[in-house]
Amino acid sequence: MNVSEMVHKQKLYYRTGATRPYEARIKQLDLLKEAIRRREPEILEALKIDLSKSDQEAYMTEIGILFEEISFVSKRLKRWMKPRKVKTAKTHIGSKGYIVPEPYGSVLIIAPWNYPFQLAISPLIGAIAAGNTAVIKPSELTPHVSAVITSMIGEVFDPAFVTAVEGGVEASEMLLAEPFDKIFFTGSVAVGKVVMKAASERLIPVTLELGGKSPCIVHHDANMKLAAKRIAFGKLTNSGQTCIAPDYLLVHESVRDAFVTEYEKAIRQFYGKDPLLSDYYGRIVTPRHFERLQSFLTDGSIVLGGETDPESLKIAPTLLDEVSWESPVMQEEIFGPILPMMTYKHLDEVVDMVNARPKPLALYLFTVNQSVQDRIVEQIPFGGGSINDTLMHIATPYLPFGGVGESGMGNYHGEYSFTAFSHMKSVLKQTNAFDIKFRYPSKTGSVMMR
Ligand code: NAD
Repeated sequence: MNVSEMVHKQKLYYRTGATRPYEARIKQLDLLKEAIRRREPEILEALKIDLSKSDQEAYMTEIGILFEEISFVSKRLKRWMKPRKVKTAKTHIGSKGYIVPEPYGSVLIIAPWNYPFQLAISPLIGAIAAGNTAVIKPSELTPHVSAVITSMIGEVFDPAFVTAVEGGVEASEMLLAEPFDKIFFTGSVAVGKVVMKAASERLIPVTLELGGKSPCIVHHDANMKLAAKRIAFGKLTNSGQTCIAPDYLLVHESVRDAFVTEYEKAIRQFYGKDPLLSDYYGRIVTPRHFERLQSFLTDGSIVLGGETDPESLKIAPTLLDEVSWESPVMQEEIFGPILPMMTYKHLDEVVDMVNARPKPLALYLFTVNQSVQDRIVEQIPFGGGSINDTLMHIATPYLPFGGVGESGMGNYHGEYSFTAFSHMKSVLKQTNAFDIKFRYPSKTGSVMMR
């Protein structure tokens, strides 16, 4: 079947109303949950082949998080689906206003390779919960995971309801030419622009979950042991191939050495003396990305790490010093285990440096000083972030997750996923019990105009 036919079939299926009852949505979410549970060994295996992810990390970041999301959404869906009554303005006396969540219809989900299972399925949970049909395009760079997704989706769902289309740029381009009602894209800033341009042809609404350089600030009063451990966790999970990984470090000059010592200790604790040999340490996705990252190693002086293994595509956790904003490592999103470090004296420098660049997807701040926390949150725009931690803001369904400016638009997770895939339809219900005459034109002129 060609792509146009497939999308047409989904549109026809949507029009039957089959995706909309609460019971149908819950049933499909249950089926999805069961399918993931059944396929767990296969998913873990595929993640090991494609990215050398350890079972523990893969379960935590790709599977467990989806079970949580499905349970969270299923428990609250009935309430979210209900039309919400709103207040009546004085000018509208006698009428009632409602917000009715309406599915967009047929949605397209394009996923990246770094969390190739989770980032394809998590938006799908929102799409199903909101009553849509969906087409998923997994990443071609993680072919084993892409194959598991396609086979799992094919086993559980009628393709007129949910289907997966494998392939690279050509597959994406074909899909982007179709009249979807919503596009949910996760990937790079550059491709995000391509997606938005294609969507603009038909004025299709988009959610863009993009990337960028997320700063991590370590102030002089930070709990250094915990800060270094949590930064190492955020930077080295999936070998740094995480959209919200701390990209670069801004550390107060007085604690720079203490940070280096504690960072080294944390790495040892996580991965032993030689991380390249650790089963808990993942690899870089492709030789091209490996080479790109390797070239960053000469953009500063290596304080820690720097070892690479082209055979296994692994790069040791690395700290870089003496980097300049002009060097490639500070110009593009790193997306690997290399952490460039810059020092500062005053907080003003931090605010100025970060604000001189595109608004980041995430920001991390380590300090116990409340006024420093308030200042950074107030003065630096960023998608979302954590104070005295890294990554954890993404893992709670109560917080919306998304970027701002170049790091993306729109958000999801929990109820925000439901709204990401719903149009909030406004309905005003007027009374016939009386009529307010002055709003109508009259020969003597409207009262409102006098
Ligand atoms: P990518 O933009 O290269 O690819 C993402 C998807 O788009 C893939 O499915 C790919 O096949 C498709 N694609 C690639 N080129 C295309 C084109 N020209 N036209 C249409 N579709 C195209 O991104 P990636 O390398 O897979 O992922 C890494 C990027 O994603 C990083 O920038 C990272 O920060 C970002 N990311 C963001 C989030 C988030 O939630 N904000 C999560 C994960 C990754």
